Amino acid sequence: MVHKDAQIELTVKQLRQDQSEYKTVIFERPVNFIYEAGDWIDVDFADTSYRGGKTYTLSSSPSEGGLAISFRVGVSPFKKKLQTVQAGEKMYISAYGNDYGFHLKDNRTSVLIAGGIGIAPFRSMLKEMYDTRSNDEVQLMYLNKTQDFLFKQELDDWRQRLPNVSIEYIMTQELKRKERKKLLLSLIKDAAHNYYIAGPRGMVQDTLSFLRETGVAAKDIRIDDFGSY
Ligand SMILES: Cc1cc2nc3c(=O)[nH]c(=O)nc-3n(C[C@H](O)[C@H](O)[C@H](O)COP(=O)(O)OP(=O)(O)OC[C@H]3O[C@@H](n4cnc5c(N)ncnc54)[C@H](O)[C@@H]3O)c2cc1C
Repeated sequence: MVHKDAQIELTVKQLRQDQSEYKTVIFERPVNFIYEAGDWIDVDFADTSYRGGKTYTLSSSPSEGGLAISFRVGVSPFKKKLQTVQAGEKMYISAYGNDYGFHLKDNRTSVLIAGGIGIAPFRSMLKEMYDTRSNDEVQLMYLNKTQDFLFKQELDDWRQRLPNVSIEYIMTQELKRKERKKLLLSLIKDAAHNYYIAGPRGMVQDTLSFLRETGVAAKDIRIDDFGSY
């Protein structure tokens, strides 16, 4: 469900430098703001100069105190402002929700495929699974150009306490498209009930066609398409 024309005030709690290329903005959680792991927000600055702002999938989990968005540092005017926000600064949510049921289903087996910053919704989902001691079977395939896997330490820590979660880290810098496809498909352990793909559009579309070619039904695949990056 998508909530348009929202006007929910946000207060920045912290701007965190995660890795050389990534930052996370943590906001105080607005009273009565309810969301699910996998949901996105449209976020903007108080002066509204960006006309509704930009879309970010929440990297925080509903089981955590604050709200968080994570992003690769950039050069656009919006990014320049976002990557220098100060604690106490006001922003707001202009819309939020989830378009294509990008939520984990209880008691189903799931394969999650992240491309780079596409790890954001999966961080949220795995943190919630960790906090609720979930026994669901989940395989995370995390593709990234370099070894700089955002949230790796947390993910590895949570996995220790999640008996049915496995994580594959796949560095793609030197892999051609065909090799990436072969490796990805060889690592998927078993047919799962649901497949989730998140990341920049090129990666999402490629992965979608890999899965469709191997016979995964379109109805079993959900995507979180971050657009052209
Ligand atoms: C459903 C959804 C969820 C999303 N979730 C996330 C998320 O969790 N995290 C995330 O990071 N993004 C997410 N995005 C993408 C996000 O909305 C932005 O599109 C993305 O972060 C790019 O930001 P930017 O346009 O500010 O540009 P930048 O990151 O600054 O730049 C993007 C590209 O455009 C070029 N560019 C842009 N502006 C200029 C300029 N002024 N001069 C020269 N070159 C320029 C850059 O060189 C770069 O190649 C999501 C998008 C959608 C639709």
